[in-house]
Amino acid sequence: MQFKDIVGQRDVINRLTEIIDSGRVSHAQLVLGPTDGGSLQLALAYLQYLGCEHRVHFDGDDLRADSCGECPHCKKMASLMHPDLHFVFPNAATAKVDKNYWSGDFMAEFREFLLEHKALGTLDEWYAHLGVENKQGMIRELDAAHIVGDLGLKSYEGGWKMMVIWMPEKMNAAAANELLKTLEEPTPQTLLMLVGESDERLLPTIRSRVQTVRLKAESAGRSGENQAEFAGLLVEWLRMLFKLKMRELADEVEKLAAMGREQQKQFLGYTLEVMRDCFLKNTAGLPCNIGSGDEKFDAMFPNMVTTNNIELINSALNEALFAVERNANAKIALMQLSFSMSKALKKR
Ligand SMILES: [Zn+2]
Repeated sequence: MQFKDIVGQRDVINRLTEIIDSGRVSHAQLVLGPTDGGSLQLALAYLQYLGCEHRVHFDGDDLRADSCGECPHCKKMASLMHPDLHFVFPNAATAKVDKNYWSGDFMAEFREFLLEHKALGTLDEWYAHLGVENKQGMIRELDAAHIVGDLGLKSYEGGWKMMVIWMPEKMNAAAANELLKTLEEPTPQTLLMLVGESDERLLPTIRSRVQTVRLKAESAGRSGENQAEFAGLLVEWLRMLFKLKMRELADEVEKLAAMGREQQKQFLGYTLEVMRDCFLKNTAGLPCNIGSGDEKFDAMFPNMVTTNNIELINSALNEALFAVERNANAKIALMQLSFSMSKALKKR
């Protein structure tokens, strides 16, 4: 991956190459931003630049420098086959692994996933690639033990030992504590590159030991992919809530529960956004497009979300989101949500 392959982010990139050129490389970096906005691309291009034997410098106001793309280091990085490049990422049990699995057991799949999506693939897409859509992937103790182990080894090529931890927010507590020890006592010539979407779930002690780079919001713009499907589901579900015919509502909940947890989380997040937009349309006259394809519904529904019920709606959705994230029974959580929503909408 070269910097020139990344969309935008020129200020961020130019600052990073300046730091590398000056030799003040931090042994622990955190790159924050949506994966489909290029955060993992940036991390890979950074590591390629770091070890490149013939860095190229440009005049002009786009990129100030980039890796050459030709030297042995660049070639090995591009194919993700550099022997000093290690990866840890959320993983979950599949049919082919025994119970002591860790990221390394899925390395071939992960490499394939990165190359196929040009390192822009999201966590959901990774789970789909791995065939574990309904499971929550995690970075666990065994992954952390390998981070320590791999970084403790001698560098194969004599340069930096590079460890990319993708989605560190998916570390469990034991893994996070293990990582913390590594951050406190770094081995020489090692570089930990944490690449995540949010640092809210990282231990403050981890956050304080890494140099953070935040991507600017100018994503490649794929987040609206599921919007049409979600809009359809949302409208159907809302209609059932108004009718409150138990049999039909149960069928609808069944349909939502069958989606898989990651999809449910996205759907609930999407619904939260729609409710907020409806509220703003209703109270502040801001434009709101549910996009259900049913004009009458799109025009009428926002009137249902008012100052009387927006808080009830918000907390009902957040509670459901919380339950789904913690692997509660999705059907029960969504049924409970349906009742709370139905009650809230009546209070308008
Ligand atoms: Zn090179």
